[in-house]
Amino acid sequence: MIKSINPYTGETLEKFKVHTKSDISKKIKKADKTFQDWRHVSFSRKKELMLNLAEELKSNKKEYATAITKEMGKPISQAIAEIEKCAWVCEYYAENAENQLQKEMIATDAEESYVRFDPIGVVFAVMPWNYPFWQVFRFIAPALMAGNVGLLKHASNVMRCAENIEKAILNAGFPEGCFQNLIISSKKVEQVVRDKRVKAVTLTGSKPAGSSVASIAGEEIKKSVLELGGSNALVVFEDANIAETVKICVQARFQNTGQSCIAGKRLIIQESIYEEFLEEFITQVRELKSGDPMDEDTYIGVLAREDLAIDLEEQLKKAKDKGAKVVLGGKRNKSYFEPTIVINVNKKSTIFKEETFGPLIAVTRFNSDMEAIDLVNRSAFGLGVSIFTEDYERAKALIPQFDDGAVFVNDLVKSDPRLPFGGTKDSGYGRELSSHGIKEFLNRKTVYIN
Ligand code: NAP
Repeated sequence: MIKSINPYTGETLEKFKVHTKSDISKKIKKADKTFQDWRHVSFSRKKELMLNLAEELKSNKKEYATAITKEMGKPISQAIAEIEKCAWVCEYYAENAENQLQKEMIATDAEESYVRFDPIGVVFAVMPWNYPFWQVFRFIAPALMAGNVGLLKHASNVMRCAENIEKAILNAGFPEGCFQNLIISSKKVEQVVRDKRVKAVTLTGSKPAGSSVASIAGEEIKKSVLELGGSNALVVFEDANIAETVKICVQARFQNTGQSCIAGKRLIIQESIYEEFLEEFITQVRELKSGDPMDEDTYIGVLAREDLAIDLEEQLKKAKDKGAKVVLGGKRNKSYFEPTIVINVNKKSTIFKEETFGPLIAVTRFNSDMEAIDLVNRSAFGLGVSIFTEDYERAKALIPQFDDGAVFVNDLVKSDPRLPFGGTKDSGYGRELSSHGIKEFLNRKTVYIN
């Protein structure tokens, strides 16, 4: 059995019967069979179904959002925003996929030569709990529009969300077999990745999970995309608009109760504005409202599981032992962790080097541009960086010097269906979203006609 537990109340919400080896095999067979028809379905029909799916999400957003909040403690207003964003990605690919997948004409010695983008078949997604709908939708919307079909192994603590995603897709009118949820633990992932009928795998999650799944995929010569952890920096230069920047940095770190791969986990402030900026930052973080995730005005909920809050507490303890100082928060009560600001964090500190997955921010100072670049690039992760400055020329000169997959100027790093999303270094490889994401799991077929 896989159990869903409400992290705010501790109540067991539901138990799910785990799929056996033979159930898994039957589902893979069904996916493969569905693909043989689905690959020939016209763009106009796929568009119609994808728009139905957006509608299904929008009309039932409260119901779907409630499942998120109950299973992983995300404040309800943020859960509703997550469902709305899923509808957006469906609409985006409904409108743009056909155009994005047009054949690419290339002039050669042939009469005609071009690249076609053909679907490959069953794609397997292993997904995390932190945005339990969004992570899945940003995979499945482009996959279905491209003519592939999907299988999901969701995080064990959000199985109701996983079941509801399958339900939403069926309610929209997609054929059975286009998307199926597998109720399995991570031990059964290998069976799915090794199955010949499964053509590729995408994983969003931690480095150990990514490394394990990509190794198996590598042995089977199957493509993988990895969206792993991050420790994004928020770099505030002395000429930044302080009032605006503080607001953005608070949101960058504390939305989703700090449990986001692209959250700004390291706040790096230029020495000359350090005191002024920090004071305003502390004031605004102090005002964040913690409470019952089901209350509409709660901003900070609980962490998705108590063990995650204990891990964060442990990281903080190690940082304090090395000289870091807590200026706000720092305490844990079961799965609740206070919004926490930690200063005197240096390059060697745990909370600078490791990813922190909760409402805690590590603050460091810098003097020169070179020092800021070094601090950002020193991280083992490379998902994204935000820089704050009113000097656009300076910003543009700095952009090529960062190793990350994204640089945002005067804004938080955020995913947007129109832009590619993905990391470098320990944050993984491959891209999701936009015209780049939809092409990750396609056969770029070279055609030469003489
Ligand atoms: P996780 O423990 O790696 O789990 C992610 C998924 O992988 C879950 O479905 C999990 O199943 C499965 N899994 C875990 N170990 C596995 C293994 N050895 N083999 C096969 N599957 C395995 O990560 P998490 O704690 O759920 O999520 C937090 C992490 O995800 C953070 O590092 C965060 O930064 C990252 N993340 C990255 C992005 C991005 O876009 N780059 C987005 C969101 C989150 P079980 O639940 O059954 O263990």
